[in-house]
Amino acid sequence: MKMIGRHIKRAGVGLLDFLLPPRCPRCSIRIEADGHLCGACWGQLKPITVPLCVRCGLPFGAGDLEGAECGACLREPPAFDWARAGVLYDDEAKSLILGLKYGGQGAGVPAMARMMAGALVGQPRMDIVVPVPLHPRRLFTRRFNQSQLIGRALSSILSLPLDSFILFRHRATPSQGTLSRKGRKRNVTGAFAVAKDVKGRVMGKRVLLVDDVLTTGATASACAAALKRAGAREVGLVVFARVKGPPG
Ligand SMILES: [Zn+2]
Ligand SMILES: [Zn+2]
Repeated sequence: MKMIGRHIKRAGVGLLDFLLPPRCPRCSIRIEADGHLCGACWGQLKPITVPLCVRCGLPFGAGDLEGAECGACLREPPAFDWARAGVLYDDEAKSLILGLKYGGQGAGVPAMARMMAGALVGQPRMDIVVPVPLHPRRLFTRRFNQSQLIGRALSSILSLPLDSFILFRHRATPSQGTLSRKGRKRNVTGAFAVAKDVKGRVMGKRVLLVDDVLTTGATASACAAALKRAGAREVGLVVFARVKGPPG
């Protein structure tokens, strides 16, 4: 019976592939299996490798010292203990993220999460995965939180529990896009909090904070500060893509 079930299942997958063949989430070319990028799109992304700033994950030049912190982190340490990113934020990475944010193309999520898991090799084992929340009003217009989609995929790869209801945004913040670094920081400081009744789920925990992009780090730092205030022992940040310049 089990065998027959397996055959039916395989036939079902075959039929589905025939009707809706797996496609690359970025360029729509036909590919072997869902949840992957085609070779060409994969090859255009730029994975971040060592040497990098041990704190914020900023990629250093080839001659820079491994194990050091960048100037920006030394001047003004972010509230998170460390950050890592899968790839550099460029036009290729951007098109995957924008497809996810505004086109609802969730097909790219598994590939993005795998790249993020790769960036976490060598980092401490964490206890829970917490996505950076959207304000409910924005969630309503966009219908889903891209950080949560990525966080869910990552939590299953890492076998860590996902807790999407720890952090909340208690005031809507204008879109960060057009603001300066200082403006961004002012915009998000105090915008996040941990709900009183869930503080026990954060106390003493190592929290892996998940977001899609790291630009100035202001949003992630505000989230990390809220988690630390609630008693988190450690906050590590992982994003799909980060800008090349220092957070500033
Ligand atoms: Zn492609
Ligand atoms: Zn740094």
